[in-house]
Amino acid sequence: MAYADFYRRSIEDRDAFWADQAKLIAWHVAPQQICDASRPPFYRWFAGGRTNLCHNAVDRHLSARGDQAALIYVSTETGKERVYSFRELHAEVQRMAAVLQALGTRQGDRVLIYMPMIPEAVFAMLACARIGAIHAVVFGGFASHSLASRIEDATPRVVVSADAGSRGGKVMPYKPLLDEGLRLSSHKPDAVLLVDRGLAPMETVAGRDHDWATLSALHRDTQVPCAWLDATDISYTLYTSGTTGKPKGVQRDVGGYAVALAASMKHIFLGEPGETYFSTSDIGWVVGHSYIVYGPLIAGMATILYEGLPIRPDAGIWWSLVEKYKVASMFSAPTAVRVLKKQDPAFLKKYDLSSLKALFLAGEPLDEPTARWINDGLGVPVIDNYWQTESGWPILTIANGVERQHSKFGSPGVPVYGYDVRIVHESTGEELTGPDQKGVVVIEGPTPPGFMQTVWKDDERFVKTYWSSIPGRQVYSTFDWGIRDEDGYFYILGRTDDVINVAGHRLGTREIEESISSHPNIAEVAVVGVADALKGQVAMAFAVVKDASALGDAKAALKLEGEVMKLVDDTLGAVARPARVRFVTVLPKTRSGKLLRRAIQAVCEGRDAGDLTTIEDPTALQQIKDLVQA
Ligand code: ATP
Ligand code: MG
Repeated sequence: MAYADFYRRSIEDRDAFWADQAKLIAWHVAPQQICDASRPPFYRWFAGGRTNLCHNAVDRHLSARGDQAALIYVSTETGKERVYSFRELHAEVQRMAAVLQALGTRQGDRVLIYMPMIPEAVFAMLACARIGAIHAVVFGGFASHSLASRIEDATPRVVVSADAGSRGGKVMPYKPLLDEGLRLSSHKPDAVLLVDRGLAPMETVAGRDHDWATLSALHRDTQVPCAWLDATDISYTLYTSGTTGKPKGVQRDVGGYAVALAASMKHIFLGEPGETYFSTSDIGWVVGHSYIVYGPLIAGMATILYEGLPIRPDAGIWWSLVEKYKVASMFSAPTAVRVLKKQDPAFLKKYDLSSLKALFLAGEPLDEPTARWINDGLGVPVIDNYWQTESGWPILTIANGVERQHSKFGSPGVPVYGYDVRIVHESTGEELTGPDQKGVVVIEGPTPPGFMQTVWKDDERFVKTYWSSIPGRQVYSTFDWGIRDEDGYFYILGRTDDVINVAGHRLGTREIEESISSHPNIAEVAVVGVADALKGQVAMAFAVVKDASALGDAKAALKLEGEVMKLVDDTLGAVARPARVRFVTVLPKTRSGKLLRRAIQAVCEGRDAGDLTTIEDPTALQQIKDLVQA
């Protein structure tokens, strides 16, 4: 079926469309209703149905592919590599489920998972799903304050953690951060379950802390059946990346999520049972939830869990895994591609990538030069997809393999089936239907299966934050700014609070960044709007160069700055020209690789940079501070 018809049916004949997709998963009791839209914006999917995410990810595959690979663990940090078949994964998950139950975990309880990228983290997520406990995974790179606020919000019965993670060969102890997080939090879990990797010494608290190896040995052969949950029960909570402020606790259901993922594996990610999927994300992010753990396993695929950097031992490591495990689909982020772009492109050609059908990228705008670089280098289609923690799966992309040749670089594509995506004027609420009209990207309800149910414990915040920002309409705001071209392709221009207003012209930071990054010597750039007495705002650019020798002295830097400005003049017009283009060695980003424009902007305007708990490298912001204050 042509994609346009497929899409139309998903919107115009919603229930029939999703009833079909619901057949992709196994139900213990079939749903009685497809979409309950009686209380917007609290849409309920597949009410009356009973199912289980772990059953769909693991048990369901035992008969057809019990001995095939399910979880492929590769750590270039510790040199460990191990393949778990579906049968082995089934046994491990039951052990973990039995231990969680022995520690008092019951259906509906929260289990906070604060772990490095090790198999036990996946066992813990699936074990929670199995017994109907709600997991709250907290990215392992977060320190005690971020952790404490999430412990307080999730009020877990049990916390699962480990002695340490490892990054670039350096041991990062987790346990002291966890202890501090638990001390700072007013909520205290009943038990802490610890995986001892032997990387760092651990102090344990008697009565509270338990050793995974000891307890799992007691439950080696314990069988724990899947709890049949209501489709609308809660599967997990997960916090947004915190790029724009205080992270929001996204709450997701069971049945809708399972169906959405199963459908996306088929229609978007080209996943076939028995094939291998490789997502380079972290289980602490939504991509890790949907496309390291649940999506590939639900589809009967093997999934690679990779602990390590993209460039260690060298920049060929990912491609060597593609060759070794015959990866069919791969999912990564533009930020990772930009890291590779600074390395020798020969690594892209060194391995046999013939198994690879496509590389999917999401998380940040994929600028055209980066897309082209990786596309040419690998010789496989590169497919951008736009979504959010809130949605759980793609909102915009090019779905259905056959039409992939129509993908346009710089655009994540067209609305995904199930999503009624519109562009509206942010202050009048008027719908903008013409080509190239800029506005806020919004979603008209009902939101599709898999979409967030609410903000954890805060229905009011859900309605107020997401569904009340556009005057006169109850629509979901993505808080992203975009346009649609005459062919219906969307372009994301930046976040709504990143829009720059220069002398009355509204410009997306993304447009300027895209223009600058087309300069052959620019590896990466961040553009922010800075208050200006004359023009209201001016654009400021901070760029990382590919070849630092071009910055030899102050004169050379000025020359490059001039070139970049001219490039913006030529592509977007003088109005978009940054007031300054400054060169830094690294840009401030969140742990998930997103540019922290709000922090850069604050520093440029001499304000406090605000909540920086999610920043990856604080020295990056210091470089900018030094430049603007000099
Ligand atoms: P917070 O909501 O806490 O500020 P965040 O928005 O960065 O953090 P995520 O849910 O991880 O948290 O990121 C979703 C956002 O990432 C989108 O709203 C969009 O701004 C950006 N994004 C994701 N994919 C793409 C893409 N393919 N192209 C452009 N932007 C993207
Ligand atoms: Mg967001």
